[in-house]
Amino acid sequence: MRDQIIQMEEYAKEHNVPIIEKESIAFIMKFIKANNVNEILEIGSAIGYSSILMASVKEDVKVTTIERDNERYMECLKNVKKCNMQNKIDVVCQDALEVNLSGVSYDLIFIDAAKGQYTKFFEKYKYFLKPGGVIITDNLKFHGHVGNRDKIASRNLKQLVGKIENYIDFLKNNDEFETKFYDVGDGLSVSIRKNEI
Ligand code: SAM
Repeated sequence: MRDQIIQMEEYAKEHNVPIIEKESIAFIMKFIKANNVNEILEIGSAIGYSSILMASVKEDVKVTTIERDNERYMECLKNVKKCNMQNKIDVVCQDALEVNLSGVSYDLIFIDAAKGQYTKFFEKYKYFLKPGGVIITDNLKFHGHVGNRDKIASRNLKQLVGKIENYIDFLKNNDEFETKFYDVGDGLSVSIRKNEI
């Protein structure tokens, strides 16, 4: 599997596909091991890099991952097959805001898709957490732009960074969830229901 992972890293670089930083996926894999996480929902598969690494942590981990871009979805399916993980990883090709889930719940929901929609993803998917389950969000530093909006010239980028800052405020002021922020990789948060701490 090591070779497949290296190939995915090279493909991502060559095709400009954003994948999680090594430090961040290492943090999440450690979290999965330490907290007995079995059922995972990932929003934003890209080519399957993080899904495959999460699923590789232990035998009983199952991942459902959602990707809206057809080309990336096809690449993800290919990689899951190459790693022989078809029984562990379910790839869904749809916009995560349009997916209808029912009768399922997860120990971990990993938000790693369109940054401007983080709050919507959180609000939609929080109902699918198991008791004690957590929501992890990536890219909260957004390559150092978060907290430095005044230095950004591009209007679109400024707007996007504003949305991430709003999401951070949303997490900080959330009555229902307690969130810890980690200065790992591009910035991660781990949110858990307050009555379950
Ligand atoms: N988790 C992947 C990894 O580390 O290997 C990287 C995911 S990449 C940062 C974000 C992906 O989310 C992109 O491939 C993008 O097409 C997808 N995406 C963005 N918004 C989405 C949405 N609303 N529903 C589903 N996928 C979405």
